[in-house]
This record gives sequence, structure tokens and C-alpha cells, in this order.
Amino acid sequence: MFQSARIKLTLWYVLITMTVSIIFSCALFFVLHRELERNLRRFALRQQIIQNYPLPPNLPRYQINVEENDLLERAIALRLVWVNVLVLGIAALAGYFLAGRALRPIKDMVDDQNRFVAAASHEFRTPLTALETAIEVNLRDKKLDLTQAKNVLKENLIDVNRLKKLSNNLLTLVSLKGADKSTAMTNVSLKKIVEEAAGQVAAMAREKGITVKIDVPDLHVAGFQDRLLELFVIFLDNGIKYSLPKTKIHVLAKKIDSSIKITIKDEGLGIDTKDLPHIFERFYRADQSRPGDKTGGYGLGLSIAKEIVVLHHGTIAVSSHLTKGTTFTITLPTSV
Ligand code: ADP
Repeated sequence: MFQSARIKLTLWYVLITMTVSIIFSCALFFVLHRELERNLRRFALRQQIIQNYPLPPNLPRYQINVEENDLLERAIALRLVWVNVLVLGIAALAGYFLAGRALRPIKDMVDDQNRFVAAASHEFRTPLTALETAIEVNLRDKKLDLTQAKNVLKENLIDVNRLKKLSNNLLTLVSLKGADKSTAMTNVSLKKIVEEAAGQVAAMAREKGITVKIDVPDLHVAGFQDRLLELFVIFLDNGIKYSLPKTKIHVLAKKIDSSIKITIKDEGLGIDTKDLPHIFERFYRADQSRPGDKTGGYGLGLSIAKEIVVLHHGTIAVSSHLTKGTTFTITLPTSV
């Protein structure tokens, strides 16, 4: 597909270049033809004058005749044809090269989309297959009583909720990619947002005995309230998921010049150095090889977080030490 699009674009480049080149050559030939004819007429007139008033014999005499003129015109026409053949060759080569360069970002985007769709389908297929098998096996079980059936339904519900979360995450990612950046941002209180996010994960934190400490002064950022809330929920949720019970998560914010630096520091499992460059990639899970992973994640949280930070013209960084903990640092511009 890429190759045929590249050839089509090359043909368009060649067509445009050749149209310009041929028009230019015709105009040039026409002007030269007119000039030569005028020269011929001028010469004929001069010949007439010379015949009436003979020049002294030692003066040089120039001869121009019609055949010579025709030969000259033909030679010019031939050169112009050669020039156009040369232009055609150069246009084809340069066009092919330029078409390749122009289409490269589109090709990369399409490849990326295809990888995304393939990964998303794979993520959907696994729980769907599990769900299908569980339903089929239990339907065949003639001895299944009501209590057992209810337990099966409860397990199915967990899978359904996971699938719902996955589809919501995918929708969020897609909407963030195509987000209209011109929509007006509002003045958002960072303190309120972080506190609200902590409230949303409070039950989960309590269950693991994890303390969330918030040190956020009364600072404001220009942003989208819901998205910023989502951003902090992702970091706190991860902090809790990937920490051992009875540890601490510290959210700290301070103003530096015209931006706000926010750090979310946990005392959790940490991330291996080899995984660090990839954790913001879609569907990447550093802990996939960790035995008994019950976090139920899909590796989409951090890629959503990154898109939200980019949407807010901010930056995101991470530092981590295995078994010691992880610190995410977000920098956002302050609201004016
Ligand atoms: P998910 O949590 O759904 O797997 P994320 O995109 O949020 O996906 O995170 C990607 C991976 O980065 C996780 O699978 C996990 O291995 C690692 N990770 C993210 N946050 C932390 C953290 N605070 N501590 C340790 N590992 C983390």
C-alpha cells in the first residue's frame, strides 16, 4: 500500500514538474523564434539598403539566410527536448525520494494504529475466551446448583468489569490523541484535584494499609479538570497497586518559575532499569513476568497519563529503584 501510494505521489510530482517545464520550454522557444524572425527581417532590410548604397569593400559582411535560421531553430528545439527529458529523469528520481519522505510519517502512523488495534484485540480476546470457556463448562454441568451458579456469575462479572475498564481506557486514549487543544482550559486548583484523586483511591489504600501524604500548596494550573483528576488517580492507583502493604505514598508540589513540579513518590516494588524506557508505551507491563500478578492492569494507565500531560503542555519523568520505590515527576505550566 505504501509503495503504490508512493508511486502515485511520484507521478503527481512528475506531472506537475513536467507541465511547468514544458510550458516554460514552449514559451522560451516561442520568444526565441520571434527574436530570430525579427533578426531575419532586420537583416533583409539591411541587405536592401546595402544594395542601394554599396558599402566600402573592406567592411565585413554578415550573411544570414532562411535555411540557417531554420537549422538554428531546430537545434534549439532539440536541446529543449533534451532538457525536458533530463528534467523528467530528475523529477522522477527526486519525486520518488520526496514522496517517500512525505509519506513516511503517515506510514509510521498507520503502522502504529495497526499495532494498537492488534494489541487491543489481543487484550480483549484473552478475557473473552476465558469468559466463554467458563460459561460453556458451567452450562454443561448438570449438577450446578444455585450457589455455584451465583459464584460463577460473580467471577464473570469481574471479567466483564475488566473488559469495561479496558474499553474505557482505549476510548480515553483515542479521545486524548484527537483532543481539541483549542478548547478553553479552566483554572484548576491542584490541591483540590489531588485530594479528590486521593479520595477515589482511599478504599484501595485502606485495604493495603497504605498512607497517602499530600503536600500540595494552593497552586493553580490551566487545564481540564476531569483529565487532571484522571492523571492523579492513575499515579496513586499504580502507587498502591505496586506497593507492599503499610507503605507510604507522598505527593509533593512546588512552584518553580512559571511551572509547577509535582512528584509522586512511593516505597513500592520499583521498576527495573530495562523496563523504565518502555513503561509509557501502550500495553507495556513491566511486571508481566512477576509471578501471581493480580493487579489486573492492561499497561494503558501510564500511556494515558503521558497523553494527559502532553495535552497540558507539560513533561513527565520517572526514576525508580527495584524494591526501593518509584518517583514520577510531572511539570505543568501554571495558569496565568
Ligand atoms: P498497568 O498498571 O495497567 O499495568 P500502567 O501503564 O499504569 O499499566 O503501568 C505500566 C507498568 O509500569 C506497570 O505494569 C508496572 O509494571 C509499572 N509501574 C507503573 N507504575 C508503577 C509504580 N508506581 N511502581 C512500580 N511499577 C510501576
